[in-house]
Amino acid sequence: MISITKGDITKFSVDAIVNAANSSLLGGGGVDGAIHRAAGPELLAECRTLGGCETGNAKITKGYNLKASYVIHTVGPIYSQSRKDECQRQLQSCYKKSLELAVQNGCKTVAFPLISAGVYGYPKKEALKVAVETIEEFGKDLQVTIVLFSDDLIDITKEMFGELVK
Ligand code: ADP
Repeated sequence: MISITKGDITKFSVDAIVNAANSSLLGGGGVDGAIHRAAGPELLAECRTLGGCETGNAKITKGYNLKASYVIHTVGPIYSQSRKDECQRQLQSCYKKSLELAVQNGCKTVAFPLISAGVYGYPKKEALKVAVETIEEFGKDLQVTIVLFSDDLIDITKEMFGELVK
């Protein structure tokens, strides 16, 4: 089951929240910074043991001070129009690998931000379409929420996927 809602992902009470991380896994701006601030310094300490993460892949840690038990860190592509097919495959892989890790760790409820749609520049409508389609394909056994952070995205989303917006 999939739904889309507006909110701050760091506040979600789910089994796992997904972080749009960078390949160092050592923290950054945007949702990554917000998750590290809310989880506390132990999250960064665990991330330091992971040896980074490739674009399109995902790694899991505990959630520490978050309400979520786990954080799944995935690294989206930095968008480039000239490599758009490759970017799309990498973005699909982020969702697929994150969902696989969630299932392997017994999670039933997962919340995603819109990966790559911030600083990494993926066009928002395209990013949303990839998110919904990939979660529909690979997240069947999970309750998945896509968490949007801004009002402009909610308007686009209602046009595209009105029936999923909660
Ligand atoms: P990326 O580097 O993958 O583009 P960003 O963190 O810059 O990652 O942005 C990814 C998405 O997460 C953007 O749509 C941004 O608006 C959103 N975002 C930022 N902070 C939060 C938050 N606290 N909760 C949910 N989404 C957030």
